[in-house]
Formats: sequence, structure tokens, C-alpha cells
Amino acid sequence: MACVQVVLTDKRSKRRQVMYVCGDRVDLESLGLCHWCAKPATALCDYPMGDGKTCSLSLCDEHRVRQRDEHGSVDVDFCPIHAQFGLRREVI
Ligand SMILES: [Zn+2]
Ligand SMILES: [Zn+2]
Repeated sequence: MACVQVVLTDKRSKRRQVMYVCGDRVDLESLGLCHWCAKPATALCDYPMGDGKTCSLSLCDEHRVRQRDEHGSVDVDFCPIHAQFGLRREVI
């Protein structure tokens, strides 16, 4: 039986929620599998797509890219593509 630690970031409050999911059939349906390598995802891309939406690609530990804004106050995860854009184009 495997237990997986899942970290969710609430976009509005920027709060992190740590969730433990246990079981043979780990129910990661909500996060799905990493878009890049099909490992169980532990994060979603928080890149703002405008209209209050985010990219929301599923990301595993290897593919989530931590980002901080210039004040170091925002701690979000981006997919590898959006990590290249950074936080500068927050308003589209
Ligand atoms: Zn991955
Ligand atoms: Zn993304």
C-alpha cells in the first residue's frame, strides 16, 4: 500500500494544503498524472491564463517548477513551459 503526499495550493489565499492519499489504487483522479511523464501529479500549474483561470496542468515533483514573485511572497508551481515566462505576465 502506498501513501502519497499531495500538496495543493489555493490560488486565492496562497495557502498550501497537504493531503495524504493512501491505498493500492491511489485516488489521484483530482490531480491526475503528470502531463510530462505520467507519474502521479503532486501539483498543478498556477500560471494565470486570465479570466481567473490557471493553466492547471498536472505536475509531478520533478516537473513542478517553484516560482516566487519579485517580493518573494508568492510561492506557486508552474509547468516547465510557463516557468520560462515567469510571473511577469501575470495580467493578460
Ligand atoms: Zn513529471
Ligand atoms: Zn502551465
